[in-house]
Amino acid sequence: MEKQSLLSLFTSNPDKYYKVSLFDEKGFKRQNCKLCGNFFWSINDKDSCPEHENYSFIGDPPTTKRLDFVDTWKELSSFFRKNHHELIQRYPVVCRWREDLYFTIASIVDFQRVMNGKIVFEIPKNPLVVPQMCLRFNDIENVGLTGRHYTSFCMIGQTCNADAPGGYWKDRCIELDHAFLKDVLGIQSEEITFVEDVWMGAGAFGYSLEYYVRGLELGNAVFTEFEGDEHNYRTLDNKIIDMGAGLERLSWITLGTPTSYDATFGPVIRKLADIIGIDIDSKSEFLSQYFRIFSEKYSNYQNDVRLLKTNIAKELGISYKVLEKTILPFETLSVIADHTRTLLFAISDGSLPSNVGGGYNLRIILRRTLALLARFGWRVNLEDIMDLHIEQLKSMYPELKEHRNDVRTIIQIESGRYSSSKERMYSLAKSMLTTKKIPSVNDLIRMYESDGITPDFLLETGVIEKIPPDFYLKLAELHTTHESKQVPVVETVTGLKPTRLLFYEDGSIREFDARILRILGGKYMILDQTAFYPRGGGQEPDFGYIEGIKITDVIKQNDIVLHKIDVPSKDSFSEDKIVHGIVDNKRRVAITKNHSATHILNSAARNSLGSWVWQNSAFKEEHYARLDITHHSALTREEISKIERTANEVVQKNLPIIIKVFERSDAEERYTFRIYQGGAVPSNNVRIVNIEEWDVEACGGTHVNKTGELGLIKILRTERIQDGVVRLEFVAGNNALQYVQSQDSRLLHIAQSLGSSKEKVVESFDKITADNELIKRKFRILVNKFSDNMAESVSQKATKSRSGLKIYGTYDDEIGDDYYIALGEKSIDNNPFLVYVALVQDQERIKVIVFVGDEARKIVKASTIAKEISLKLGGTGGGGTEKFAQGGGKDKSKVQGCLINLENLLTGVLDSSEKND
Ligand SMILES: [Zn+2]
Ligand SMILES: [Zn+2]
Repeated sequence: MEKQSLLSLFTSNPDKYYKVSLFDEKGFKRQNCKLCGNFFWSINDKDSCPEHENYSFIGDPPTTKRLDFVDTWKELSSFFRKNHHELIQRYPVVCRWREDLYFTIASIVDFQRVMNGKIVFEIPKNPLVVPQMCLRFNDIENVGLTGRHYTSFCMIGQTCNADAPGGYWKDRCIELDHAFLKDVLGIQSEEITFVEDVWMGAGAFGYSLEYYVRGLELGNAVFTEFEGDEHNYRTLDNKIIDMGAGLERLSWITLGTPTSYDATFGPVIRKLADIIGIDIDSKSEFLSQYFRIFSEKYSNYQNDVRLLKTNIAKELGISYKVLEKTILPFETLSVIADHTRTLLFAISDGSLPSNVGGGYNLRIILRRTLALLARFGWRVNLEDIMDLHIEQLKSMYPELKEHRNDVRTIIQIESGRYSSSKERMYSLAKSMLTTKKIPSVNDLIRMYESDGITPDFLLETGVIEKIPPDFYLKLAELHTTHESKQVPVVETVTGLKPTRLLFYEDGSIREFDARILRILGGKYMILDQTAFYPRGGGQEPDFGYIEGIKITDVIKQNDIVLHKIDVPSKDSFSEDKIVHGIVDNKRRVAITKNHSATHILNSAARNSLGSWVWQNSAFKEEHYARLDITHHSALTREEISKIERTANEVVQKNLPIIIKVFERSDAEERYTFRIYQGGAVPSNNVRIVNIEEWDVEACGGTHVNKTGELGLIKILRTERIQDGVVRLEFVAGNNALQYVQSQDSRLLHIAQSLGSSKEKVVESFDKITADNELIKRKFRILVNKFSDNMAESVSQKATKSRSGLKIYGTYDDEIGDDYYIALGEKSIDNNPFLVYVALVQDQERIKVIVFVGDEARKIVKASTIAKEISLKLGGTGGGGTEKFAQGGGKDKSKVQGCLINLENLLTGVLDSSEKND
């Protein structure tokens, strides 16, 4: 659907779509922009729309009140409360309720749920106002530069369902927004301009009025009225008002500061400037002037900010260099304030910086911030900056304080990782400086992806002169949305009612009768009802029998359950026949226990490690289960046993597991978004599995009634499977008992082999290890004692070569290398003309040991010989000094040849080394 064609659809009928009662009342007239053709409404006659105006409010705010960020929210919330709106708390910035988004990107996203590829609106109060923090990473490079771009911002959502009780439509919406600007902020109606626009998304669309004051867009009221496309559309049953206004901008217009960052981060930036030693006030007049011009010209220079700055410098009568030197510290302070606030919200809400998924952009801005601090030599901790944000925002977002320690932990780990990788980064930068190759944007992206090198770092080290303007945008685009999950489809089934799911009605049913509705390709049977649990939510399917025929797989497609028949048989199965099904009880019970254990472990991990722990994915089958959690590092032994201990305490408490179905919005309100451990739920009704006082999750799986039924949860092993994700493999119930018993019998086997008992096996093992070391030491002493005589015999056995060297070669597959190393050393002491080569069988490999005496070394080096022989034995080469070198290979058939031809080999080595000289 084209935006332009929709816009012409609506603008061709302005009275119907855009005109609201306020316009008649106050005398707003519809006008046409002579520069871009946009239609807009204002009281005064104007030639152009506000997009072409400069920010004349900078240094001269049009309001009667001066409000900082938090006070703006206070005024706004009390205005809407007085006008019968419910204030609701912000939703998490990590968007757990939408599979297609990592982060909440707009206030309306709070109330959108996706069902069958379509967006549905669920608005918990009507009408409402929400101060929603939103994260967007498509403007990273503009942050700081433009005075108004952010990676996180607070979008005030004024939202209602127009057709539900309490709802209203466009007249009332614009009346309220105008009243807030005029009566609360004190902006004259003549200052306000409404611009006609459209909005569309996921099958719904509407017209909108953006409102501007002195060139600054303050808000956008969207009237979502239709679904379909511009040719074929119908009015929604529930029309939606979606007004979004940036709190940062509302505060900015009342303060008239040079940038919106000064208004938004006021106390944070001031404190930082104090610490760093920058005087903001003395530059205020200059910055105001600069940003006024910047705002006016920015749209013409979006792709070349440097050129824009050069032109502004000319206009101000200074050089580009002087301009850059003056504003750069302020731009950088703003970037740091913005990035740290974004990280604070994201980590507080459970997201981790990493190299994958949504964590990707968090690590980018974190490393960018650290690189900037380093580049300017500013000694401030990120954690301390976060504390400044928490302090500023405590009345608006008190929850930030609760997660303060968790955020600190994550920031410290990430900062540590960054500084430990810096050394490698410096050496890479150095080699790039010497080759003088200028990296392309794609090179830069590769360097960030593989080595974590930010362009800010390369700027700091002088490898590049400027950061390509599209670097962060390109990088962010690579990691903005989830990949869609592919579900294997057997065959599309139509015309059947949903299968009745008996396992939800009574979890104890193992035998049932059902009518065959259809057989697909002789392989899949569809029944009217079933007690077989189909694969889903990481839980493997039930097996069993239908009329004595084995069922080897059960899957669900939409609402239909398909039973895979082991032996395709048309005779015994015909449509409409009543059949008897039996579910394999042992398998179901084992899987069910593993599933309940997953929920217990998930909360045990979160309680033991930190609030950033979420289920990343899970898999439950009969003899094995695994849970992947989000966590920053590999688990230590102590952490593993703490999680296991905590989980088993929950088992021992024998807590009831209550399963109930709630309306989705009800479930979210009651239990928060923590319920979405297994991802978003694409249904109005949410099945809540509640382990009382321990864990609450939305889940469609089978569960035990009380935690005590699990008996035991045993973690088998853990592994960090990717950046930010740790896997726990475990078993519960009988499987856990079997595991412990099998470990026990292995231990018994070891104990018996050691001639010990299970109780004393560790002591026995330690003793044997110590004995072993002692024997080795004695052997070495023995070798030393006798090697003097042996050395003499080596010298005698050695053959004299054409070049005057004495050559000795031997092969052994019994005694081991300790002996031959000791002997070699003695032998060359004894005879300085000696070249000593020992080939020693060491398990699968033949070890090459070479010693070269003092005199012989003038002609040949041990390292060259070791390398040459290793290659002949099929190895990759050896290493060592002129005197002593080692190597090896696996080709035993070449041993004798090597020894016989040792002289020729040496001659070859000599020849080539002469050539090299
Ligand atoms: Zn215009
Ligand atoms: Zn579950």
